[in-house]
Amino acid sequence: MIIGGGLVGASLAIALDAAGIDAVMVEAAPPRVGDQPSYDERNLALARATVNGLDAIGVWKHAAAQATPIRHIHVTRAGEFGSVQLDARRHGVDALGWTLPARELGAALLRRLDECTRLRRLAPARLTRLEPLAAGWRAHVETVDGPLSIDTPLLVGADGTTSFVREQLGIANERYDYGQTLFVCTVTPERDHAGRAYERFADSGPVAVLPLAGRRCGLVLTVPREEADAVAALDDAAFITMAQERFGWRLGRLSRPGKRHPYPIQRVAAEALVAARAVLVGNAAQTIHPIGAQGFNLGLRDALTLAELAAETADPGDEAMLARYAERRAADREGTMAMSHGLIQLACLPQPLLAPLRSLAMLAFDRVPPLQRLLARRGMGFRGEPPRAVLERLP
Ligand SMILES: Cc1cc2nc3c(=O)[nH]c(=O)nc-3n(C[C@H](O)[C@H](O)[C@H](O)COP(=O)(O)OP(=O)(O)OC[C@H]3O[C@@H](n4cnc5c(N)ncnc54)[C@H](O)[C@@H]3O)c2cc1C
Repeated sequence: MIIGGGLVGASLAIALDAAGIDAVMVEAAPPRVGDQPSYDERNLALARATVNGLDAIGVWKHAAAQATPIRHIHVTRAGEFGSVQLDARRHGVDALGWTLPARELGAALLRRLDECTRLRRLAPARLTRLEPLAAGWRAHVETVDGPLSIDTPLLVGADGTTSFVREQLGIANERYDYGQTLFVCTVTPERDHAGRAYERFADSGPVAVLPLAGRRCGLVLTVPREEADAVAALDDAAFITMAQERFGWRLGRLSRPGKRHPYPIQRVAAEALVAARAVLVGNAAQTIHPIGAQGFNLGLRDALTLAELAAETADPGDEAMLARYAERRAADREGTMAMSHGLIQLACLPQPLLAPLRSLAMLAFDRVPPLQRLLARRGMGFRGEPPRAVLERLP
């Protein structure tokens, strides 16, 4: 039983259905793109491994037409020399990843969910209480037709950052408030983005520009929390001036900003991934800074690993399977969380003494072939012991 049908919960439900496993998915929002909290205007950078995984579970065919390939990634820090550049061709692939608005991925997931044959979907419906059983959980759910109770041998918390499942299981979490707000909107650059994604770090926080369809770009601008109200109140011309100052002129003049969406940023990490007959996936397990573009990528690897292990086990949710799950996810989870947190801390710290070290590190990752390969492989989402579904499939 999956609680939460967001990007990760829905992907897991589809993967289980594809593996021939019966499941129930409970989602608080009605099954429409505009109503689902994370099927919104954020632009997702999907790693190559993620697209392989979405393809393997039959979602990508509904999304591919709206996606834009990322052929080149360019990382810099304002005021310092050195940069890291990753190029798809140099690593023998057509794209390092793809960008896709979350609402388009949401629409593709909903279409694929409609094709599922073994899955029972309850939406809008909300988990309100859990009761432990000898070999599972009794879940009390409020639906539009009244209360329901459902017994399950495995409870999956895919209910996001403020996870009710995590709280009910008594799993503690570690929180870190970045004191930053992220603004997301589209812009039109003067020059063609040519499939380039940019990430630029500065004392005031990182800024990213992602290639989108129709020559548009997705802008992600981080500001200190205390400046968020003032930035939200800027008119379009003043906002573009600020974005241009922060990002620079690599794509020429930026214009026509779309509607701005603010997101306060925090990191929330569950202290355990599993409990008796229960497991956390996606943001319920770990919510990380969005600037590294890893949250859904990591959460999908949670979901696909869980589906793979469940398909190999007669009793999904037994202790040995859950222990194996936690072991399989450890390296990827810890590595991705450490990288994303460390990147923000290190790349945005203003200390001038760090500047030469940072520049040298950038040069090393840019020029030393084994470091480049490592960075490219990780950037494409091949980390730890990946689920089989994300690996490259030979034609
Ligand atoms: C601005 C921004 C940009 C991002 N960019 C990227 C990116 O480029 N690449 C990337 O990989 N990731 C990115 N992310 C992260 C990504 O969006 C998240 O990691 C992802 O949405 C997590 O999915 P989830 O399903 O775990 O949680 P959510 O999407 O939060 O879904 C949780 C679901 O659970 C439901 N729910 C909650 N409680 C209950 C209950 N009691 N009963 C029933 N249902 C319940 C909610 O309604 C919700 O639909 C970004 C995030 C932000 C904010």
